[in-house]
Amino acid sequence: MDSTHFDCARCGKCCTDLRLPLTFPEAVRWLERGGQVDLLCEALPWPVEPDADNAYAAYKRKRTFAATSGELPIRVGVTLAATFTGPCPNLGEAIRCGIYEERPLVCRVYPAEINPFFALKPEFKLCPEEAWQAPTPFAIDGVLIDAVTRDSIDASRRADEASVEMKRALCERLGLDRASVVNEGFVIVTSARERLLGALIDVQQDVQAHDTAPQTWTLVSNRRATVDTLIEVGALGAMDVDATREGYQYIGL
Ligand code: SF4
Ligand code: SF4
Repeated sequence: MDSTHFDCARCGKCCTDLRLPLTFPEAVRWLERGGQVDLLCEALPWPVEPDADNAYAAYKRKRTFAATSGELPIRVGVTLAATFTGPCPNLGEAIRCGIYEERPLVCRVYPAEINPFFALKPEFKLCPEEAWQAPTPFAIDGVLIDAVTRDSIDASRRADEASVEMKRALCERLGLDRASVVNEGFVIVTSARERLLGALIDVQQDVQAHDTAPQTWTLVSNRRATVDTLIEVGALGAMDVDATREGYQYIGL
């Protein structure tokens, strides 16, 4: 039996220098409190529908929307990410969360994983050594002990699935058409707070109103071989985001 023990050491490391994935309503509240939310856009080439028994493809399919890059079918995933350098704007004295009762689901889940295809690996987490030496059992054979954390993970996954159409509409509304190639990096889009807040509220209220003709996406990678392959198959590939596009940046992994 493989057991992981954990108890939060309240070190605050998971509240510093982050891009924190948020649900739609959480992103609205984060912006209303004066925080910054960026959009992380990535795309998976999707030339054919994978087999029905491909569990990973099924998971990604539920969290992405169909689009095209030139002649290549793709699926686009968008993450709403609270972005801050240094301590989270909600982190108060004595390393206490100032919005504890309203904190985002991802804050309730950490250091557990939301993605079912990622195993919990303490060495990849920010928590100090002593947190993993606590007597409290956290997971046994990869199954989380704490029901509250499990519920938060389920709620996060459901919110992710439920927001796909709103994210598609949000991209249309904001005119986004650049995405990274999945697992190679991220295209990060920073919009003015009021503009993004208005767009989030609009598409939440009426997603159909933003059902316009889909635009074709340019896929960005910092790897020459990837871009050359994309162009060979008729996709739109680029080595970087267009420097004239204000608010866009590419971060390679
Ligand atoms: S919202 Fe609270 S728990 Fe989440 S990162 Fe900020 S201070 Fe930490
Ligand atoms: S990094 Fe880990 S130990 Fe430190 S506050 Fe966050 S969850 Fe707790």
